[in-house]
Amino acid sequence: MTKGNINIKAENIFPIIKKFLYSDHEIFLRELVSNATDATMKLKHLVSIGEAQVEYGNPIIEVKVDQENQKIHIIDQGIGMTQEEVEKYINQIAFSGAEEFVAKYKEKIPENGIIGHFGLGFYSAFMVARKVEIITKSYLPDTKAVRWECDGSPEYNLEETEKSERGTEIILHIAEDSTEFLEANRIRTLLTKYNKFMPIPIKFGTKEETVKTGEGDDAKEEKITVDNIINNPNPAWTKAPADLNDEDYKQFYHELYPMQFEEPLFNIHLNVDYPFNLTGILYFPKITKNIDPQRDKIQLYQNQVFVTDNVEGIVPDFLQMLRGVIDSPDIPLNVSRSYLQADAAVKKISTYITRKVADKLVSLFKDDRKSFEEKWEDIKIIIEYGMLSEEKFYEKSDKFALYPTVDGTYYIWDELMEKIKSNQVDKDGTTVILYASDKKTQHSYIETAKEKGYEVLLLDSPIVSHLLQKLETSKEKIHFSRVDADHIDNLIKKEDTKISKLSEEEQKTLQPIIEETIADKNFTVKMEALDSTANPFMITQPEFMRRMKEMSATGGGGMFGMGNFPDMYTLVVNTNHELVSEILNTKTKKKQEKLVQQAFDLARLSQNLLHGEALSSFIKRSFELIK
Ligand code: ADP
Repeated sequence: MTKGNINIKAENIFPIIKKFLYSDHEIFLRELVSNATDATMKLKHLVSIGEAQVEYGNPIIEVKVDQENQKIHIIDQGIGMTQEEVEKYINQIAFSGAEEFVAKYKEKIPENGIIGHFGLGFYSAFMVARKVEIITKSYLPDTKAVRWECDGSPEYNLEETEKSERGTEIILHIAEDSTEFLEANRIRTLLTKYNKFMPIPIKFGTKEETVKTGEGDDAKEEKITVDNIINNPNPAWTKAPADLNDEDYKQFYHELYPMQFEEPLFNIHLNVDYPFNLTGILYFPKITKNIDPQRDKIQLYQNQVFVTDNVEGIVPDFLQMLRGVIDSPDIPLNVSRSYLQADAAVKKISTYITRKVADKLVSLFKDDRKSFEEKWEDIKIIIEYGMLSEEKFYEKSDKFALYPTVDGTYYIWDELMEKIKSNQVDKDGTTVILYASDKKTQHSYIETAKEKGYEVLLLDSPIVSHLLQKLETSKEKIHFSRVDADHIDNLIKKEDTKISKLSEEEQKTLQPIIEETIADKNFTVKMEALDSTANPFMITQPEFMRRMKEMSATGGGGMFGMGNFPDMYTLVVNTNHELVSEILNTKTKKKQEKLVQQAFDLARLSQNLLHGEALSSFIKRSFELIK
């Protein structure tokens, strides 16, 4: 037996490890199962290249909880270790690895915590164990099995032992403060969380299975006991896209999110090996009103080991609402978020993902436009957000971003321009794109626009004002106007102002009469010479102010602090309408006020702006008038 002293500078690193990683003690299991997986994969590789003269077979990893003796066993059938290897890999490498790790994080725990704590490896066992044993036998012929034991102090024991099969068994003698890990349920949950898709089958206990035996009359059902394998060693993302069909992708989605019953809309299979290695499958979920962004997020794996479901910095913001898996060994994990975001490799990954998503959207649109249009309502928020936040994505968006009309026709940008270029250009050569945000409340404005043969888009997502701003600044000579932003003749002004029936003098007299009667500072009164058939009073909401206010309310851009401003409206008075002349020429002040009030209320009513007391008195007055 060898007694030795592990050569480390720190007197005892375990208390430090314990303290530093307190909240994440559970990762010991992931680390040990990962080591067992590595040892098995290494053997597989050696056998495949003819370096190991052993039968590879169908190795599994077993995790056992021995509650009575307060132990956890992790057993593999991998390459194992010789005595020299234990001394080298465990006493030196693993220790120095742990030491390095502690040195790195002693100074400063990265902000937002460390993603995943990779790198601590074998020694994370001491976060939960008061003593660790390794019983291992190398795959190499004529080697003796050895037993290593350490109680967390820098001293260890190493001796020969008996073990017939190759591989390694790690035995954790669970410490008093970590007995929670002796509960089978806890271990099962952890194995499912971290090892659900690891490449070697992991056994945890057994289960009963019913099998059918015999044929015809001899047919019977029998219960047999089989290994309970907790993982799927061949998850969909590790396969070639050509080997998967729609059903396989859907099935994998439900495997990833067992509590999710809604089907995904479509998926994107990621697969690159240069200049970085990354595989994965992303899903566009149906975005419902009550979607919880904290649940069922994209999961990040490294070589099929779960790391985290916080992919901030790796996946561009606008895609955080997607679901699925990303697996890449090239993402540095034990670094801070800010470092991660500045990392060149990570930037490339993020750019790649954005490009793949854009390409997929282009092909979905091209291959099956109808089905893409049907999905638009569910995906538009993500796409619009992407257009606003990722320039590269925006550049490609003309090929797939849809602009639906109030009548349910979907145009891409060029089609829309083609459609409106002859009819919707104003006298200055600007193409005016009309839109509505609500078909019901803006009904009369939509109808007026349609009567002129104009197309009216239906743009109703919450960030649309930002998007319009962006489109207006990046495209040439276009302008967006909501249908209720002004009278239609002013929205697309094709000729100079019409001649007004009322003289300037008369308009000057009328203006204060109306202002004083309506007495509402949120309304600006504006005299306009419109068609005599257009309504006498009309309420509009100027595009610019409204949009700035909306942008400010949804954050970023717009004018700071405008979110809380009251809505500002314009009361357009049609100076060519008979009623307006009548108001001017009415001699009794009382009657004049009544007419103004009534016309104003009707205008408000058509914009759904008449409520409460104002509505009551309007109704009362209207009855009086028809008496
Ligand atoms: P890492 O896995 O990052 O190299 P660890 O501290 O987890 O660091 O392990 C140190 C070394 O110990 C491994 O590189 C490996 O050579 C050896 N080792 C650990 N566990 C096993 C195992 N189950 N079977 C064979 N070798 C192992």
